[in-house]
Amino acid sequence: MEGVLLVDVTTVAAWITQAGSDIEENKDHLTHLDSAIGDADHGVNLVRGFTAVAAAVAEKQPPTPGELLTLVGNTLISKVGGASGPLYGTAFRRAGKSLGTEPDVSPEALGSALQAALEGVQGLGAAAEGDKTMVDALAPAVRAYQHALASGGGIGDAAQAAAAAAEKGAEATIPLQALKGRASYLGARSVGHQDPGATSTALLLHALAATLGRPGS
Ligand code: ADP
Ligand code: MG
Repeated sequence: MEGVLLVDVTTVAAWITQAGSDIEENKDHLTHLDSAIGDADHGVNLVRGFTAVAAAVAEKQPPTPGELLTLVGNTLISKVGGASGPLYGTAFRRAGKSLGTEPDVSPEALGSALQAALEGVQGLGAAAEGDKTMVDALAPAVRAYQHALASGGGIGDAAQAAAAAAEKGAEATIPLQALKGRASYLGARSVGHQDPGATSTALLLHALAATLGRPGS
């Protein structure tokens, strides 16, 4: 795929804006999923978080991709309650830290940032793959991203592969029993429902792929 070779702060800001509108559009769907195996607030939580993120980014205008992602993470941690606020907040903060203050992000650096995000989520939440959490979408997405780059793909191809793997991973949570988070209180009754956090992770990565695949971004 022809597309961007390096990602600058404008592109990262466009991703976050796209993510916010995709989450808004899917608010009821996420909340519906969370009503089956949680407390029906995942969509509301994320909309609240990304609304605050948009305001913080507009106000502070972070100058680099890394600083922007750190601001996203800090805002999510301070504005979103529940499990997903600290978990996504940590993911974005770790990604931001991994990117440092470089003005342009290479495909490899974005891969390292995704890996750092995954490590942040697992460090905080201690979920393994198969526990029916956002890790079930993020872990295969990181692997797919790295694999696409290693096979000669560009950053847009890699993001596309990550989004597809995340979506597949989210769908694969349906037959699993939740072993972490609120859904785990349901025991075997958590089987048969798609995990809300894995679903929102797939949305975030689809927004990234859409942004990187857009001409001129
Ligand atoms: P809460 O469960 O506190 O209401 P949310 O509804 O916003 O928070 O988010 C629920 C999602 O958080 C779950 O669907 C799951 O993907 C994710 N989650 C919960 N606990 C963990 C954990 N320990 N590790 C990773 N993800 C988790
Ligand atoms: Mg919830």
